[in-house]
Amino acid sequence: MNPPAYIGRFAPTPSGYLHFGSLVAALASYLDARAVNGRWLLRMEDLDPPREVAGAQAAILNALESYGFEWDGELVRQSERHDHYATLVERLLSQGLAYACTCSRKQLEGSQGIYPGNCRNAGHSVVDAAIRLRVPELVYHFNDRVQGDYRQHLGREGGDFIIRRRDGLFAYQLAVVLDDAWQGVTDIVRGADLLDSTPRQLYLQELLGFSQPRYLHVPLITQPDGHKLGKSYRSPPLPADQASLLLIRALRALGQRVPDDASYGQPAELLRWASEHWDATRIPRSLSLAEAQLR
Ligand SMILES: [Zn+2]
Repeated sequence: MNPPAYIGRFAPTPSGYLHFGSLVAALASYLDARAVNGRWLLRMEDLDPPREVAGAQAAILNALESYGFEWDGELVRQSERHDHYATLVERLLSQGLAYACTCSRKQLEGSQGIYPGNCRNAGHSVVDAAIRLRVPELVYHFNDRVQGDYRQHLGREGGDFIIRRRDGLFAYQLAVVLDDAWQGVTDIVRGADLLDSTPRQLYLQELLGFSQPRYLHVPLITQPDGHKLGKSYRSPPLPADQASLLLIRALRALGQRVPDDASYGQPAELLRWASEHWDATRIPRSLSLAEAQLR
């Protein structure tokens, strides 16, 4: 039996509620999957309990349901996958592909987010240390379906990156690559804030022998002052009673057609219509909040 041709996913982080920007990302990944009768999975990226907002997980699930999204299979929680991440970190350590880093924040001051490699050959104990993955001095690139060719020199633009934090929590880059491969995800549709994480994820995929998914990064919605929606501001939950209205707005933000009758039916009906009319080539590369509202 052939594996499904398309498996997509939405992977929210419960450090806040869904906001308009995350609705746009969820909608794009959902429609891109449903337009080709693909599967659409839901994964809660709850790797960071200290940053989790109480009640956010339930609020995210409620919002998705009231907006008409139906996911396939069981919800996966990353908090239930720690054993798998731990095994992988051990393996990378034992292969010499990762190492312990004891640098304090102060020691890394002035390095502008590019790890200078202080602990690369120090042979520190892994106890009370972060674990970093060695990166090659190479450019990694991919062809994004909306953003086009995106490239990054792993060594010069980021350096060895953290896969397990000093407090023992696993890093997003590690978990997302392992879970996408484990779930058989073929197509990753997400916000462009993750564009610059993708080359590191490509390196991890290569290292672990995983096949590379297709990528589509939807434009971020920026505030009039240039801030990204939802990050600097604590966004309120999406209102359940305005689902169809906000879905229409999100469709417009994605450059999609909307039904002629703007009062068009229930959210689930609207999503069905939108999946039949989905055209990913119409998605704009960038978008301001004002544009998103005016469209
Ligand atoms: Zn270090």
